[in-house]
Amino acid sequence: MKKKIGNSFGLAAVFTAAVSLYVILLAFYPSWFQNLEGKLWRNQSETLMDHAEYITTGSSLRLSEIQQLKNLRLFDHERYSRAESGEAMWIRIPSNILKQDYSIFSAQPYIRNFDIYFPIFTGRLTKYQNTEILSTGKVRGRSIHAFSHMPNSIDAEMPIYIRIEGPVQNPEFRTMLYEDFSIFENRLSLFFSVHFTVFLIIFLVNVILYYIFKEKSYLFHGLFQLFTTLSLYYYTSFGNRMYDMGTSFYYEEFQMLALVFMYFFLYDYLKVKNKGVRFKELYQGALAVTALSAFFILLTDHDWEMLITSVAVSISYLYIFLVALYTSMRKIRFSVWIPFATFVLMVSSILQSLSLLAYIESHVNISLMIFTAVLTEAVVFTYSIFYFIREQQAENAFLKNQVTTDHLTGLKNRYYLDKFAKDKMLLLEKSGKSTSMIILDIDFFKSVNDDFGHDKGDEVLQELARKLETTFRKEDSVTRLGGEEFIILLYDSNLKTAEHLAERARRIVELTDFGLKRPLTISLGVAEKQPGESFNELYKRADDALYTAKAMGRNQVRLSKESEFVPSLEVDP
Ligand code: GH3
Ligand code: MG
Ligand code: MG
Repeated sequence: MKKKIGNSFGLAAVFTAAVSLYVILLAFYPSWFQNLEGKLWRNQSETLMDHAEYITTGSSLRLSEIQQLKNLRLFDHERYSRAESGEAMWIRIPSNILKQDYSIFSAQPYIRNFDIYFPIFTGRLTKYQNTEILSTGKVRGRSIHAFSHMPNSIDAEMPIYIRIEGPVQNPEFRTMLYEDFSIFENRLSLFFSVHFTVFLIIFLVNVILYYIFKEKSYLFHGLFQLFTTLSLYYYTSFGNRMYDMGTSFYYEEFQMLALVFMYFFLYDYLKVKNKGVRFKELYQGALAVTALSAFFILLTDHDWEMLITSVAVSISYLYIFLVALYTSMRKIRFSVWIPFATFVLMVSSILQSLSLLAYIESHVNISLMIFTAVLTEAVVFTYSIFYFIREQQAENAFLKNQVTTDHLTGLKNRYYLDKFAKDKMLLLEKSGKSTSMIILDIDFFKSVNDDFGHDKGDEVLQELARKLETTFRKEDSVTRLGGEEFIILLYDSNLKTAEHLAERARRIVELTDFGLKRPLTISLGVAEKQPGESFNELYKRADDALYTAKAMGRNQVRLSKESEFVPSLEVDP
């Protein structure tokens, strides 16, 4: 277990550092990334709108009206550059600015679809059949790059007409060499691919963490990441770029599912179940509303799904942010991380809804910001999870220390000896090193208690413990066996060294003033571990030596000769 924690720490640290670096680049050098989307457009494409003439018709398909207007040269931009739902907007582009092998495209979120009409020689308009829509079917806008590849036979004299269904306002169409357009698409795909790969790694890291630590928070966080990734996959119409995905477009569905898991995650993460009832109800309420909306959106297929989703998502993040800010001020467990993790998410989701609802202009920076937001969220929560693990480790270390320590003297106790010291001894034997044991008992300690009281006796034990600690090396285990008996395991020491050290301890204790108006003395038994000898056998020999020391008049060191160890006769098959 300990090893597992160590390994995942290393992995997670590298991962967090890498993603952080990327987020910093994304946040501070957005121009690098805008080069992919914005600069390519701006530099390599030309706007068609400077030359555009707008006509807005009251119903969606009145071709005859357009034909009647065909002699008009310029339309009022202010008046006609907006079409309500059910209306159609026609944009007339003079053909002299169009070139062969160029494409017309729009990347505005609310431009769902457009058609191109050419006047044919009879003077009537005909629909150009080669308009390619990159996202089709259940499409409700977003960054869909609908484009049309211009035919080689554009009549240089005649304008073309772009027809868009309302609602639409100030549409922007650009033109770009078809080949550049493909390159641009590929580069953008690369940009998204990198992000999706990172998001999926975050998901996997969280699943792995869940398996290691059995903390549900990781699973919920991972699922949040997964559904966010899927929703972004559709938001960017990445799937449609890569494959012909037909009618599958589940941006709202995945966005709502992500939100549900965000609430599950926060609920579990904050352990609100055990905290104030107020928070429990706050999160339960939000979770219920979100789950209901998600369910509703899964079942329905309407245009206003987008509205519900974008509003639900931005209100949710605002709500999560504010609640977390409030709870972190009240120092509820780890809620301090949430405002940091969700701030960019909140801002970007609000901007995103505003742009989807056409209150603000959609901008490539909003998309960049969403990616930054998801990465920031991942980094902060990933880090906070390690913080949490580290805290758990510290708690475990504290508890381990508690159970292996003798409370009176602060020395290691018998539990430590049984649990760890024995194993260490056997390990050393395997590497050919000898271990020795000293058992030490205070002489006439009963009389210390009798003459000076039990409290003074305790004090003497504590002081003796300090003396023993300084007499022996740090790596030798000085343990209190119980009462006024101590065991010292001397790793990598033979009988001669052990005897020397025991004698030194005896002398130091004898010369120390314990405030008893008479010297305090100790008796010591020493034994060196023999090959094949068990811990208990070694203990028995050292204890016998101690008994001899007591019997011989106390205040002395006695050795157990190795000959005293008689290996039990076992028949090796
Ligand atoms: P000997 O030289 O034969 O060892 O004589 P002794 O008096 O030390 O005898 P023994 O080891 O049997 O006595 C142990 C005494 O230590 C008995 C008990 O009152 C005392 N003792 C054991 N644990 C503690 C403790 O935690 N605090 C105090 N103050 N006294 C303790
Ligand atoms: Mg004693
Ligand atoms: Mg004793």
